[in-house]
Amino acid sequence: MPPRLLLSELTREEVRALAPEALVVLPTAAIEQHGPHLPIQTDAAICEAIARRAAELASAEIRVLVAPTVCYGSSHHHRPYPGVLSLRSDTFLAVLRDLCESLILSGFTRIVLLNGHGGNDAAIRQVALDVATQHPVAIAAASYWTIARPALLPGDAGSAARAPGGPAGGGRTAGLHPAAPSSPRPRRLHR
Ligand SMILES: [Zn+2]
Repeated sequence: MPPRLLLSELTREEVRALAPEALVVLPTAAIEQHGPHLPIQTDAAICEAIARRAAELASAEIRVLVAPTVCYGSSHHHRPYPGVLSLRSDTFLAVLRDLCESLILSGFTRIVLLNGHGGNDAAIRQVALDVATQHPVAIAAASYWTIARPALLPGDAGSAARAPGGPAGGGRTAGLHPAAPSSPRPRRLHR
């Protein structure tokens, strides 16, 4: 039977037993507009799916748990559009620091912040630096496209258009609808 991967499905005692040996992944995303054709949960849905699939693959070698996604992110640059539920940057930083400390208090010593929204990128890396200097834990932070880019781009002339880019670009449309052709890229905004 494959190991259970979702932290939220474990009991208190199961978390206590697994935390010292497990690597915990905390997905971070956003609820924001993604053009006229994608839902506002796009970043959160894609990031959570990537975290779960990566954990499935990695669990053949190491014990991995995926924490509930931090679905709200720092999206103030999207706020002129409807459907944007954004945390100001200092709030987002404070939320991430509190969640990392909560994971540490639960016994975890290996933490990965896996990000799916460009506006969060600087914050996750700052939090990882801060946590690493304040606690005896191993912590890493990266956006999924940074990790995936070398595997996505070489040797495929068409892949650049499908690599993660703008909030409603081909990469996001393909992520939510794998069978859909690359859509024309609407007006480019930040991720
Ligand atoms: Zn985004």
